[in-house]
Amino acid sequence: MRQDPFSRQSDPRRRSRRGGGLRLWILLLFAGYGVYYYFSNQVEDPVTGQKVLIDRSLSADDEKALGLEAYQQILQQERPVDPSLPIAREVQSIADRLIAKVDVVEAALAAEHGMQPTRFSQSFDWEVSVIESDQANAFCLPGGKMAVYTGLVPVAQNEDAMAVVMGHEIAHALLRHGAQRMAQQRLSQVGQMAGAMSGMDPQQQQMVMAAMGYGYLLPYARKHETEADEVGLMLAAAACFDPREAVPLWERMGEASGGQAQPEFSSTHPNPGTRIQNLQSMMPRALEYRERFCEQAM
Ligand SMILES: [Zn+2]
Repeated sequence: MRQDPFSRQSDPRRRSRRGGGLRLWILLLFAGYGVYYYFSNQVEDPVTGQKVLIDRSLSADDEKALGLEAYQQILQQERPVDPSLPIAREVQSIADRLIAKVDVVEAALAAEHGMQPTRFSQSFDWEVSVIESDQANAFCLPGGKMAVYTGLVPVAQNEDAMAVVMGHEIAHALLRHGAQRMAQQRLSQVGQMAGAMSGMDPQQQQMVMAAMGYGYLLPYARKHETEADEVGLMLAAAACFDPREAVPLWERMGEASGGQAQPEFSSTHPNPGTRIQNLQSMMPRALEYRERFCEQAM
């Protein structure tokens, strides 16, 4: 007897097979978009010589506007100290010295990769605030808005170490790590949507996202930290600070956090031992940068 088309559709085995085909197509479509997005937004960064993922539709001005918005929000929520206080003036002077060396250091690092610098930071409106807080933290947002938290002062202990931290933060902005994170988030959103639309159950989706976090996003974040350490160290050295202070600084930072994650210096940061080893291996080059670019004699 010929089967009635409706009864055929109600056969659960059959339905799941058809659903499976559609699911595969949806996944392929999203995967195709993900691959397209990934490859069409690769930019070579002259400073690191690395290919990175940055959304081409995100302009320097967009990035700056996002940074400014976040900065204003933070300043409204926190307590910035009076800019005439000695601590604020000291932080300002460290920032000025570092910023003055951004162009030469960028050009020197780009030249090491046989490239021209992008001069991306020329559109930055640099500004630094000191925020009253127990946190040993600092940041520099896209567009050049920076802050140092007073909790960092006792950990830094001296201006060389403070310059190492601030150089690290400036490097994040110069290397457009925020924009890279945004592009990665977009990719994970594509992945999440694909998972949801293809009918993956939430548990499966979570497993896939966790695998992506550990396999892709976390190593990426650690790589950013190492890059920021390197560029920041060269910047501090070129601005006549002593880069060797970086090693005891990160040791103190490890103790200060007592194994507990601080907002910026959190789990994304490489483990302290590896970080110190990396810094030590960068030291000869940092000292060379100091000799080359610091006008005062060593
Ligand atoms: Zn960092």
